[in-house]
Amino acid sequence: MYPESLQKLIEGFKILPGVGDKTAERYALVVADTDEETIRQFASALIEVKEKLRPCKVCGNLCDGEICDICADPDRKHDTILVVQSAKDVIAMEKTGQYHGVYHVLNGAISPAKGILPEELNIDSLLERARQAREIILATSATVDGETTAMYLDKLLKKEVPAVLVTRIAHGLPSGGMLDYADEMTLVHALSDRRKME
Ligand SMILES: [Zn+2]
Repeated sequence: MYPESLQKLIEGFKILPGVGDKTAERYALVVADTDEETIRQFASALIEVKEKLRPCKVCGNLCDGEICDICADPDRKHDTILVVQSAKDVIAMEKTGQYHGVYHVLNGAISPAKGILPEELNIDSLLERARQAREIILATSATVDGETTAMYLDKLLKKEVPAVLVTRIAHGLPSGGMLDYADEMTLVHALSDRRKME
């Protein structure tokens, strides 16, 4: 077997998605072969992310302080809020460069099957923000859970903030695919073809 230090590192790599025994072994051996300074920087980046990264107080997106760069940007349209399931979705949409509003990250989707209730999601602060909004765009994924969440939010927003326009992105997204897997053009079209929720 491997020395204990190497074995620990292999176990560490296995927390990453798609990394099994073989790949973890390969990564650990690369680390063993790499110069110490590079590895020190890598190790401190891992720690720094855990120490600094936290949800934005306004939108729930991940950031290195209290408020994310998007919420802090005066040039964004703060009355247009795109509601997504995760911070990964924010990154995907930002890559398109075609969206100029702000976001709201739910941290998941309502799922009767997995026992995830609306109370467990970042919904209360969305209602507060919605009072100052002109449009709320629901961009949860095209899965059953994503659609359930969009319908729940639509009903809630219509009741609490009836004057606000609620729209749903069009789903030219891969079937059952998550928003973050869609290519940029698909996302741009899904956004521009959004429809009013009826
Ligand atoms: Zn934010």
